[in-house]
Amino acid sequence: MVLGTYKEAVSARSTDSKILDVSQDGGIVSALLCYALDEGIIEGAVVAGTPDEDWRPVPTVVTSADEVIAAAGTKYSMSPTLSALKEATRQYGLEKVGVVATPCQTQGLRKAQAYPFTRFVAEKVKLIIGIYCMENFPMASLDTFATAKLGFDSLQDATKMDIGKGKFWLTKDGEDNGLAIKETHGYEQAGCNICNDYVCEWADVSTGSVGSPDGWSTVLTRTDDGASVFNAAVEAGLIETKPMDEVKPGLPLLEKLAKGKKDKNNAERERRAKMGVKVPTIY
Ligand SMILES: Cc1cc2nc3c(=O)[nH]c(=O)nc-3n(C[C@H](O)[C@H](O)[C@H](O)COP(=O)(O)OP(=O)(O)OC[C@H]3O[C@@H](n4cnc5c(N)ncnc54)[C@H](O)[C@@H]3O)c2cc1C
Ligand code: SF4
Repeated sequence: MVLGTYKEAVSARSTDSKILDVSQDGGIVSALLCYALDEGIIEGAVVAGTPDEDWRPVPTVVTSADEVIAAAGTKYSMSPTLSALKEATRQYGLEKVGVVATPCQTQGLRKAQAYPFTRFVAEKVKLIIGIYCMENFPMASLDTFATAKLGFDSLQDATKMDIGKGKFWLTKDGEDNGLAIKETHGYEQAGCNICNDYVCEWADVSTGSVGSPDGWSTVLTRTDDGASVFNAAVEAGLIETKPMDEVKPGLPLLEKLAKGKKDKNNAERERRAKMGVKVPTIY
């Protein structure tokens, strides 16, 4: 299955205007974290914050709704999120931890849970909220998009970053400035070109924008724990949903992009293997 194993696919958004004001899409990540914290399902979570407001994602341990909301929004650069798990479990002493993770981070985390060398860390992760991910960029690439390609004085002038409708968007002074995605090719981190998971197939709940209208998210519930947290948050009125087949463009676009990523990046894996470069095994 090109989207991995899942129980249910819905289009959804948070019902909290405080979350929707700052979230990237439907605010599903922040709504789920806030609900899970409130209910004691987790005691804290590792997210990607930007403490210096310079778009550089910094792994951050959050233990309150205000901290969750302060870290909302997508930063299109690599966050070494898993590095903060030790801090969450040791310094913060958390026994039940949530993590917001890209597909590659989720794969690493599932491996750490399956093998015993990270005892007392990985097994304390009780909720993995996975975000879809086509590719990611080093900070220097983002600086280049903002300054050399879009003519900003600095990347820090941007107030929102997004990818959609074939463009990389940087919002400045309330105006959306788009750069054609083909202009960004070659600037992504090289490791992303052999990644074949788009929709975070190993998370408890996966979410992203593709498939749903603007301001909404496409959600795939995958594990029993993930489905139970998501459905409880819906029942509590924190998240509203629409059946996936009632929204446009719907799952066909998500499936097309997921398959496109697998096909393109599997071809790149083969190309590198033929050159004698070692490529990681896919499980
Ligand atoms: C590099 C990257 C590429 C993406 N590509 C796609 C795509 O091709 N298609 C698609 O549909 N969606 C993509 N997404 C996901 C999308 O941008 C949103 O993150 C997702 O829809 C969640 O939105 P939300 O409103 O529910 O989350 P919010 O409530 O806004 O919360 C976002 C959460 O993501 C965390 N976060 C932000 N940046 C990062 C990061 N760099 N690494 C790890 N965690 C981070 C924040 O800490 C926060 O907890 C991508 C995300 C990233 C980080
Ligand atoms: S494309 Fe793959 S390797 Fe690159 S950041 Fe996204 S999940 Fe990780």
